[in-house]
Amino acid sequence: MYLALYRKFRPATFQSIIGQQHITTTLKNQIFNQQIGHAYLFCGSRGTGKTSCAKVFARAINCLSPLKDGSPCGECEVCKKLQQSNNIDIFEIDAASNNGVDEIRDLREKIKYAPTVGKYKVYIIDEVHMLSAGAFNALLKTLEEPPAHAVFILATTEVHKLPATILSRVMRFDFKLISTQDIAQNISNIFDKSNIKYQPSAVGLIASAGEGSMRDALSIADMCASFCNNNITYDGVIEVLGISNKETIFTLISSILNQDIQKFFVEFNKVVAMGKNLSVISSDLTKGFRDLLVIKSCGKDSGLIDYKPELLDKMAELASGVSTLKINKALQAFSKIETELKYATNPQLLIETTALGLLDEEVKKN
Ligand SMILES: [Zn+2]
Repeated sequence: MYLALYRKFRPATFQSIIGQQHITTTLKNQIFNQQIGHAYLFCGSRGTGKTSCAKVFARAINCLSPLKDGSPCGECEVCKKLQQSNNIDIFEIDAASNNGVDEIRDLREKIKYAPTVGKYKVYIIDEVHMLSAGAFNALLKTLEEPPAHAVFILATTEVHKLPATILSRVMRFDFKLISTQDIAQNISNIFDKSNIKYQPSAVGLIASAGEGSMRDALSIADMCASFCNNNITYDGVIEVLGISNKETIFTLISSILNQDIQKFFVEFNKVVAMGKNLSVISSDLTKGFRDLLVIKSCGKDSGLIDYKPELLDKMAELASGVSTLKINKALQAFSKIETELKYATNPQLLIETTALGLLDEEVKKN
């Protein structure tokens, strides 16, 4: 059976939780100093490692011989038992899949019994903001007087929906979006371990498409691996993501700036015919104009932008022939329609009229 990369490479140690050192360091110190709290709140965007971190912590506080960094050893009797999905000392409740009333009631009945394997019983409640009011109240009562062996880890993507009564009883940790660089590094490691070949530029593209979420980036990586038959190329990733490549974007922005509206229509319609996402195209155009401004202001060798050498030369040539004012006007026009595009009934028309609006007065009159 094929196991998704995201599941296959779920972190088993604190060290393998990417980009959240501010949290893992605190948790490790609590383990070393034996100051385990009763209730934790992990908040942050999806795919930033909340559940993975909760699972590692749950095993770490029970492990008989933790690793140097406080991570669970994965080898001792307790670790082995807790790794089994039918263990009854680490409970996972997904509040998103039901309102949680039954689970929380059940939890309240059983929480008083001592753990069967290790020292602690750990309750991980995912998307805790989705619990019904009744379930929340039941949970609150438990949080007020938890038995000594109980640890709660509440996770949420929407912390503002939690009542103050819960917030005041938990130790809060905010998970950050993971940097593109960290995601790219992790994906390269995973590809290496999985014998998947790749171009480094392809990994960069996958990582930035993840937008801070390791889970999203890894599911894109999964799609790319099967689309490219385990030899992932930059162009293959572009196909999968449905984004235009920089060459196409260059053709579009140069036709706009050079007032060649016929060329713009022809090229843009090719892009549309390929079924590309027009919001993505539009933000790529914005980025293209922005990069052009950077080249015009700082030169092509500033290292501030990332293009292949041949394309960089073409960009520099284009930049030298157009005024800063004109590029800036185009940049502003396209960044202005980004939000509008999400709700537009005809996004193609919106992009086309925006391009037409940038023509010089004398060209418009013809
Ligand atoms: Zn262990």
